[in-house]
Amino acid sequence: MDDRLVTLCGLPMAMLAAGAAGLGTPWYQQALVGMEVGPTGAQFGAEGGDPLYAARFNGSEIVRRCREAGSEYVVVWARDGVYAYYDSAVQPKAPGLRERDVLREAVREGRRLGMPIIAYCVLQYPTTALAEHPEWAMRDADGKPIPDRVCFNSPYREHVKDLLKEMLAYGIDGFHLDMVDQGFGPPHGCWCDHCARLYEARYGAAMPTGVTWDESWNRMLELRYETSAGFERELTQFIRSEAPGVTVDYNYHGNPPFSWEVGQRPVQHAVNGDFVTGETGIWGFSALTTGLNVEIYRAATPGRPVQVAMQRGVRMYHDQTTRPLADMQWELYTLLAHGAFVTMVDKTAYDGWLDPVAYERIGELFAEARRRRDEFGHAPVADVALWFSDRSRDWYGRQDPSRYFAGFLGAHKAMTYEHLPWSVVLEENASLATLKQTPVVLLPNAAIVGEATVRLLSDYVTGGGNLIVTGISGCFDHMGQPRPHSALENLIGGRLVRPLESRDNHVRFARGQGPEALTAGLRPDWPFLVEGPAVVYEATEATAIGELLAPHRTVRQIQGVEDTAWPMSAGETVGPAALLNQLGSGQVLTLACSPDAATSGEHPIVEARRLLANAVRLLAPEPRVRVDAPVTVEVVVRDDPERRILRVHLIGYSAPPQTLPARNRPYVLPGLMEEPPIYEATVTLRDRPRSLRVVGRADPPRRDGRRIALTVRDTHAVLVVGY
Ligand SMILES: [Zn+2]
Repeated sequence: MDDRLVTLCGLPMAMLAAGAAGLGTPWYQQALVGMEVGPTGAQFGAEGGDPLYAARFNGSEIVRRCREAGSEYVVVWARDGVYAYYDSAVQPKAPGLRERDVLREAVREGRRLGMPIIAYCVLQYPTTALAEHPEWAMRDADGKPIPDRVCFNSPYREHVKDLLKEMLAYGIDGFHLDMVDQGFGPPHGCWCDHCARLYEARYGAAMPTGVTWDESWNRMLELRYETSAGFERELTQFIRSEAPGVTVDYNYHGNPPFSWEVGQRPVQHAVNGDFVTGETGIWGFSALTTGLNVEIYRAATPGRPVQVAMQRGVRMYHDQTTRPLADMQWELYTLLAHGAFVTMVDKTAYDGWLDPVAYERIGELFAEARRRRDEFGHAPVADVALWFSDRSRDWYGRQDPSRYFAGFLGAHKAMTYEHLPWSVVLEENASLATLKQTPVVLLPNAAIVGEATVRLLSDYVTGGGNLIVTGISGCFDHMGQPRPHSALENLIGGRLVRPLESRDNHVRFARGQGPEALTAGLRPDWPFLVEGPAVVYEATEATAIGELLAPHRTVRQIQGVEDTAWPMSAGETVGPAALLNQLGSGQVLTLACSPDAATSGEHPIVEARRLLANAVRLLAPEPRVRVDAPVTVEVVVRDDPERRILRVHLIGYSAPPQTLPARNRPYVLPGLMEEPPIYEATVTLRDRPRSLRVVGRADPPRRDGRRIALTVRDTHAVLVVGY
């Protein structure tokens, strides 16, 4: 938030947030970093009425300390499932607050300091409301209430509106509403009377008997999705009608690892507030997918700001520990480089005390990020778009969504490790215009490809785009059943003979066979494992390249008395490894194996990943930027065409080795990054640069024509190229 704007206008923040009235840009369109502060204990049975709990949780102090740390807005804990933290007539206040009202304190201090105050309000898991109204509970297929979960089609909707109305009266600037999930696993809902009536009215039939993966479940899934989206739309409309200009955002669950269980689709549930917001962090999303989360949110809400929350605790939100600065820098800069604005979550001590070390470190973190503010934003430059199919997630993945995610996540991992700038394109809102933004679109094991998508992809390719198809893409029908012919056969220029039952499949390329760019760095005449689904194709129009080899099987494996969990060596050749098809002005490269799934799997050999990267380089041979750097460095390329500035962000991750874990050996969490990495990188530009400078700690760049060599001594550095 621009302080001058606030002082000059002297208007309530809510009015400034309106933006549409022309009084200023809404707070979320200019924020870079902010904080969310809530009391620890809210998730640890604080309903006992302990007067110590949240006793020192003070809105004025929180806002002041956040401001001192460089925060540009504050999301303050106002209502959770158990308590309100303001004087509510609807829900009891945390008893430790006594006469105090945290929301009033925060709003008053926010006004004084010119800080937007956002009220945090829990939606799912409303313990107190469910104790008073057990009839609002979500119900499983047997009609039994599901503990702690509420049905969004119940009168709970009106209860939430009563709470929101109370909070609006304080003059807040926005709501952060958390969460609109329908549970993260079984039992699934909802079979309550409200939902049964809606299903009946909509489809004129009885509900399915459970998760049946048939037409009745197809309808049930639509109803579940609409339940969450309708709830969000209704609350947004209510807030806008009561207080135009007060913003609303919903904590989002449309990205991996979330699937149909939570009741969200990537686009349908990202667009119902003023901006989409979601979470990241190694605790739930891995180190690598930090940037992926941002790109999915961006793809779901094109042209809008996106917000991501990270935490200061070393393990998760609910530990009062503070990560080393470098560890937080790596995550923050990854998010900012990908174009998000970022909320740092601080859980206070049980009594509400604010940890000074956390605020000192966050202050240092934010100050540097704000000094680099001009480096963030701008238009993505991507060589390849990763196609995300929500239909495949649901109907191919079913109760095991990792079946689908393996390909998508592996493709992302391969592109990131190989420094190939990538973007995400979502099946739900993909258009020819979106596809045309990148020279290559990659379908990583998109099992289900509908007719409309086939038409879209055909238009893209015949118009000069390039497509990469891997594994079982297109081999399943709308309901997730195997198809006799691939939906993509015309694009592929080949015929589906059969999918292989094995996952331990190999490929081999003979010396001199096929385009050199496809096999660069791969030893010729050598079979290597590409673990994942594979398909036997027969070329019709396309050129066949290399060999796909099915695995050996022992006698006991053939007899079915021994499993095939561990990969076996390469056996006989069953088909081509790849098919290359010219179609109009574009090309389709089909990989009969799954280098994407292999890269995210248990045997992620480098050659499998390189094959996928080579495929992209074959189809997009002249990228604007090519980066050679250690595999631990993530590259993000952004273009500012108005100022003719290209930015190459380099984000170095350097977690030290871990020791033995206490549980689930060998699955370790990464160590904490304690110091910035030092590394060499070479950036090769397609066009001759007009000017060069580096933001971040690095030696002066050494230029040789269009090649720029860098020695970076920072977690985040940007090569700023004038052209
Ligand atoms: Zn229900």
